[in-house]
Amino acid sequence: MNVHARLAAASLMLMTLAAACSPQTEKTAETAPAAPAAAPISDTHAFRIGQVEAVALRDGTIVLTNAEEQSPWSAVSDVATVLTANGVTDNRIHLSVQPLLVKDGERVVLIDTGAGGQMGTENKLPASLAAAGVQPAQVTDILISHAHGDHVGGLVANGALVYPNATVRMTAAEWAAMQGENELQPIVRLIRPKVETFEPGASISPAITALPLPGHTAGHTGYEIANGGARLIYVGDALHSSLISVQRPELVNRWDLDSATAIATRQALLERGASQNLLFYGVHFPFPGLGRIQRRDDGFVWAPQP
Ligand SMILES: [Zn+2]
Repeated sequence: MNVHARLAAASLMLMTLAAACSPQTEKTAETAPAAPAAAPISDTHAFRIGQVEAVALRDGTIVLTNAEEQSPWSAVSDVATVLTANGVTDNRIHLSVQPLLVKDGERVVLIDTGAGGQMGTENKLPASLAAAGVQPAQVTDILISHAHGDHVGGLVANGALVYPNATVRMTAAEWAAMQGENELQPIVRLIRPKVETFEPGASISPAITALPLPGHTAGHTGYEIANGGARLIYVGDALHSSLISVQRPELVNRWDLDSATAIATRQALLERGASQNLLFYGVHFPFPGLGRIQRRDDGFVWAPQP
């Protein structure tokens, strides 16, 4: 199984699809001369977790047609049912990509780094970070959830580190696996002197703890950010789609390395989120990715935070 190769092969088509359904294109076409100018789509969303400042940073969108050769869910008819029931009329799966900036005391922490323009995404992260008032050299820590291209692709650009002063942190298991991935060698070579690994559940910074969410990759982890009674869960790729992963968590996702473990992780995470009314941050959920898991019938739905 090679996720990256499959996605790379599909990327040309994805770029076409992404352009065809771009919200900006639709807005321009619909704007009447007398209407007030449409507000520009914001690529940042600032919020707080207790006293900790955080900013959702838009990188782009991955658009997948619900078909065997593109979608990680081979249960195409089940997915079509979910999409239709939720008002999605184009039979496509839209996965936003939004790394999270967290200012934890003196630490300027970036959780995941986006796709670096791969997979049909727009590579908006550099501009989004600038819009949040942060220069790449100010980032002190990069926390990687896992070493797939849409999370580590933004670590390097033009043969150099994008965040030259940042320590790159990930689980020891993920770093071991990443070093064995041929297509990631250009990134591995550059970040090697910067990498520090941790074990699942480790404390990372005053507010941030690594949250074990096993199954998606060898060392996949989420992050739990807590301050003053407030709490946010960065779910990584334990949940990909706010519709399919939440409403049908038992469906096999071919992007998961260990499907049975990933499904169990997904179900337990949803159960915990609903039971404790936890604020979740979905790195691939509709921007800005904030919301809660609610029970509906025998399952769950995503309730975006207004
Ligand atoms: Zn991902």
